[in-house]
Order: sequence, then structure tokens, then C-alpha cells
Amino acid sequence: MKKPTCITPIRTLNYICKKEDPLERISKKDKARKIAEILDDLYPNSPIPLQHQDPYTLLIAVLLSAQCTDARVNKISPILFERADNVYDMAKVPIEEIKEIIRPCGLAPAKSKAIFNLSNILVDKYGGKVPKTFEELESLPGVGHKTASVVMSQAFGLPAFPVDTHIHRLAYRWGLSNGKSVVQTEKDLKRLYPESSWNKLHLQIIYFGREYCPARNHDFQACPICGKYGRKSLLK
Ligand code: SF4
Repeated sequence: MKKPTCITPIRTLNYICKKEDPLERISKKDKARKIAEILDDLYPNSPIPLQHQDPYTLLIAVLLSAQCTDARVNKISPILFERADNVYDMAKVPIEEIKEIIRPCGLAPAKSKAIFNLSNILVDKYGGKVPKTFEELESLPGVGHKTASVVMSQAFGLPAFPVDTHIHRLAYRWGLSNGKSVVQTEKDLKRLYPESSWNKLHLQIIYFGREYCPARNHDFQACPICGKYGRKSLLK
């Protein structure tokens, strides 16, 4: 499939898109299914973007990725894991030292404190293991619903649909959710797609967003999904 270059301002292409009249009458369920088919075609494999060796190192990597790119996390996490690649060793690394190592990822004071504290909680309360429930994960310092969802999905293969900004924005642009909140988007996507597809789909949409969606200037017509299934109101 030819990949679009998103360089044409929206206004220029609106006219073309309106004339082309993207499938208006398709049901939301059918649209969701067709979008999933396109994503399958584009991303038959969707590897986990954050380097890790086990649930613990994934949890730390996801925590580091808040407001930071995966590429940068993948550069910094090996340095941290060289110092301590398991919960027992990490629980002994002073916060200041963690902070210095992870500084390039941003939010270093909060993240280093969370890494130190959660490691100690895992040692004291969970026998050094990462828990497998949302409730327990979300009770850990620095772990919100999205981080917990990524760990549930990518570390344990349990059904979860982590919604990041890409997924939230695209679900709205594709008319699969009303864009009200990430909580609503997660609910809507879970309703539209079978549980067995959640883990794969969330990665595919992230890959799609990163590859195709510029911050501005969307070439709706050339886009393999918006061109056919984009929300009508965005094309007016
Ligand atoms: S999916 Fe929509 S928003 Fe993203 S690049 Fe395509 S046209 Fe632009």
C-alpha cells in the first residue's frame, strides 16, 4: 500500500474529500472492522516498542516513557538496567543515582522516586514480582491506568486496551469515539473490537499514528484510513 505524505493543508484537501464522499453509511462496527483490516495489512507484526527482559523491566520502561519518546527510553533504560536489572537490586539504588541516569527522559525527580518506591513495595509486598491485576498495579507509585494497561497487555498478555494520545486522537478522527476523554475512548474501542484483538490493535494504532499522523497538515485523501473512514465533520 502506498504511504501518504501528509504535506497538504487540510483546507486544500477538504474540497476533494467532500466530493469523494467517504463511506458515510457504513455502520460503526463495520467501519471498525475495516479499519482493523487495513491495520493488519499495514502492520502484520507489531513488536513491543520498549526494550525489556521481563515484566519488571517493562514496567520501568513504561514509567520512563511518560512524556518521552520510546526511542529515548530505549537509549536510557539499558544504562539504568546495567546498574540494576531486577527489583531487588533497584530497590537499593539511591534515588539520586536513579535520577541522574534517567534525567534525559524528563520528569526525573518524580520518575526516580517512583522507581525507587515501587521497587521497594514490590520487594516488601509482592515477593519481588510485578502484580497481575489493575488494582494492584495502579496502587504502585507512578503507575496510572495507561501504564498498568500496557503492563497487563504486553507483559502478561492479558486483555487491555491502553489508550495513549495517538489512539485517543485517531479513534476520534475515525469516528470510533467521541473524543470526550481517554476513558471514554477506551470504553468505545473495547466495545467495538473483540477482546482477543485489543493487545494487537493498540500497538497497530500507535504504529500507524507515529508513521502517518503529522501534528498538522493531514492529507486526508492520501491517508489509507481517514481517506475512506475519516469523521465527516473533519472533512467539511
Ligand atoms: S489518519 Fe487522518 S489524521 Fe492521521 S495522517 Fe491520516 S489523514 Fe492525517
